[in-house]
Amino acid sequence: MIRILFIFALVVLIALGAVWLSDHPGDVRLTWGGYIVETSVIVVGLLALVFAALVALLYRFWIWLKHSPGRIGDVFSERRRNKGLEAISSGMVAIAAGDADEARRQAVAAEKHLSGEPMTLLLAAQAAELNADERAANIYYDRMMQRRDTEFLGLRGLINRAIRDGDLEKARSLAKRAEELRPGTEWVQKDLYELALKMRDWDEADRLLAKMARGKAAKSDAVRRAKAVITYERALATQKLKGDAEALPLAEQAHALDPSFVPAAVLDMKLAAEVQGNSRKLRKLVAETWKHAPHQDLAEAIRHSVAGEQPADWLRRATETVAPGNPDHKETHLMLGRAALASRDWGLAREHLLKAGGDNPTAGILRLLAELEEKANADAFAAREWIVKSSVAPQDPLWICNSCGRQEEDWHAHCPACDSFDSFEWRTVDRGTHSPDVIEAEIVREISAST
Ligand SMILES: [Zn+2]
Repeated sequence: MIRILFIFALVVLIALGAVWLSDHPGDVRLTWGGYIVETSVIVVGLLALVFAALVALLYRFWIWLKHSPGRIGDVFSERRRNKGLEAISSGMVAIAAGDADEARRQAVAAEKHLSGEPMTLLLAAQAAELNADERAANIYYDRMMQRRDTEFLGLRGLINRAIRDGDLEKARSLAKRAEELRPGTEWVQKDLYELALKMRDWDEADRLLAKMARGKAAKSDAVRRAKAVITYERALATQKLKGDAEALPLAEQAHALDPSFVPAAVLDMKLAAEVQGNSRKLRKLVAETWKHAPHQDLAEAIRHSVAGEQPADWLRRATETVAPGNPDHKETHLMLGRAALASRDWGLAREHLLKAGGDNPTAGILRLLAELEEKANADAFAAREWIVKSSVAPQDPLWICNSCGRQEEDWHAHCPACDSFDSFEWRTVDRGTHSPDVIEAEIVREISAST
């Protein structure tokens, strides 16, 4: 109804206008270039009306095109989208292949067609990383951090950067934010755990390990070993802060988690001797530790567990209470050989030192045999012969880092050279040091096993 009234009013207005124009005739004269156009005002008015109608029609046609099925707009945006997706997948392939230039080119193309999409941002950040363009990578990660749907992805990039730069505090606070966003995500927990280890935050590492390895996984050898090492470090820290008695339960726990872990056995022995004295419990501990972790450091700890013991008493105790736990072990013969040497029982010393050396005695054992010749028989010639042999004999075992080959007298939770966690093994160098190739092969194997 209103529409009809409106059209009616319009017709009336046009008619009135036409009447008014015919009442007020006039000429329009247009001069342009070499042309002169002369016409009446009515014709100009009609032309203006026709022009307006044409524009309106064209506009309606454009709107119709945009909204009808198979719209032109859609065709365009679909094509853009496809081009953008193509650029993203080509870019990802370039990143996997390590082709920095191609990755950057595809990142630019993706940005052109699919600006602001999460995958576009990720590709741009990765391409920047590959080009070692830290500034650009940071900008893209920051942009990802500002969007809820890409914040988590951006965090991962920034955490990896911070770890690479050695900024552990920053890496940890970012990882905590990631944990808040998606609690329980595996890689976040793993990063937090490894950061706690690197920062020597043993209590936190212990908590995170317990959280990650639940159920069956908690009983695996690797987890028990890691827990033993962490608990051992907690015992050391407690000993420093609160004393032996407070630290003993942790040392016992570490030792129980992995009875073959020598440092825990040694610490348990030392603390038990300090706290409990020469008790029946200690004697039981001596037999038990030697069975699972025979080692020269443990022999020393056991020897010192009884204060003021004479060499002959130590030899008797070593023979009667320590050795039976592991009678044929090389370390047992070495312990007994040293004890016999100290209490001047030459025959027994020779017997055990020769057994300890076996077919291929180490330099240290040969030096002990030289000492024996000199002390027992004052035979400088025989002693010299052992010394000469020792100069070409295999080295004595040491704590050797399985990641970088570093050799240490004492065990460390982290390698002082390469900072690897729990990488030290008690062995001789000649048993085959790990060449970089072997290490690389091991890493590749680990990665393919974990994916
Ligand atoms: Zn190392």
